[in-house]
Amino acid sequence: MKSQRGGLQPIGREQLLQEFVHDSYKAGRKLRQPVRCPDCGAVFENGRWVWATAPAAARAERCPACRRILDKFPAGFVTLKGAFLRQHRDEILHLMRNHEAKESAEHPLQRIMAVVDSGDGVVVTTTDAHLARDLAQALQRAYQGELEFHYSKEDNLLRATWTR
Ligand SMILES: [Zn+2]
Repeated sequence: MKSQRGGLQPIGREQLLQEFVHDSYKAGRKLRQPVRCPDCGAVFENGRWVWATAPAAARAERCPACRRILDKFPAGFVTLKGAFLRQHRDEILHLMRNHEAKESAEHPLQRIMAVVDSGDGVVVTTTDAHLARDLAQALQRAYQGELEFHYSKEDNLLRATWTR
């Protein structure tokens, strides 16, 4: 089903990387520095959010990831489906959590928001579209399977579906 404004379109990987610059929860938008997120403790300095000790003068302002968590507004959805998934669910989710831990240790805005069992699979939501893409690609590297990406520019939303 396509909406008048384009809706979710299948796209290639190159385009995917360029499209990510459009983000209303943008990490690099202008903020009076220094800033510290009161929820997760990430610090905004030199134009990016990092894990660091905030200067005493830091203002409190929620980081884009914590804002998405509060708003329940994911930037990425990774839907997992198939018989292999049902047999290896725990192992697969463990791999995704490990991958997230590595990414978020370096990039505070890249986090898994929720893992929800749906009717025919599992949906993992993320605070950042890059992480959704990376998680899906990590699954395919580890277990092969079918991978499909849909990106909506209007909504700045990435949907990845992995089936095996
Ligand atoms: Zn935060």
